[in-house]
Amino acid sequence: MGARYIGTAWVLATLERHGCSLHQINMTDNFKHQGARQKMIDALRSKNIASEEVLVAMTKVPRQYFIDSIFEKYAYNDKAFSIGEGQTISQPSTVAIQSTLLGVRWGDKILEVGTGSGYQAQVLHKLGANVFSIERQKVLFEKTRLLLRSLGSSVQTFYGDGYAGLPLYAPFDKIIVTCGAPSVPAALAAQLKIGGIMVVPLGIPKQVMTKIVRTDENTFEKTSHGDFHFVPMLQQKK
Ligand code: SAH
Repeated sequence: MGARYIGTAWVLATLERHGCSLHQINMTDNFKHQGARQKMIDALRSKNIASEEVLVAMTKVPRQYFIDSIFEKYAYNDKAFSIGEGQTISQPSTVAIQSTLLGVRWGDKILEVGTGSGYQAQVLHKLGANVFSIERQKVLFEKTRLLLRSLGSSVQTFYGDGYAGLPLYAPFDKIIVTCGAPSVPAALAAQLKIGGIMVVPLGIPKQVMTKIVRTDENTFEKTSHGDFHFVPMLQQKK
């Protein structure tokens, strides 16, 4: 596969029309990008933190599309970067771990809290999930909605407060929270199917990655999966 061009001018013009504070996105995916991506995936594989399905999905998502082009040469470092508005794109190893803990199956209906750059959502989409993603930051919401649309992604994005979830679309097979929550938001627990899985980083200022399985109406079984550092889950829209 050679260089791929998917309408940078269109995306930039549309973002500008929506008054988005622009970062430049380089929407090419050439051999250099693909090689760096493969190296990153191999490094993740050697750490044994992710399922093979998740790694395959991550090879299908050019991470440079989701970050400012000034960070492009770091796109395949295992690092979080600023995506503007004080927010960050999740680190690839964190995306690998959260996606693996979710145990995504083809056709799963998944709610993501914290759309941010859209990278995590797009990885879930490539795993065959039907993704509903909610973001409280208007500028990021607008920017990422257009980006995902330009990528032909079926991820559905919503501007709202993740603490409320998406009652109109509930229940969900899986719920993934990509910001640090002080405790499990009650509305999200209620929107999880019985037998469903929620993956949520819990705690302030540091988080413990927590997997919650809803085994029946009132029983939620929790397991812990290491320490992480996320931007905080904040109340209300901005
Ligand atoms: N999944 C994202 C990670 C973005 S960082 C990615 O792959 O890039 C976490 C995001 O959660 C930020 O964009 C932040 O604005 C958002 N966020 C914080 N509190 C929220 C809330 N209550 N509801 C929805 N989004 C929230």
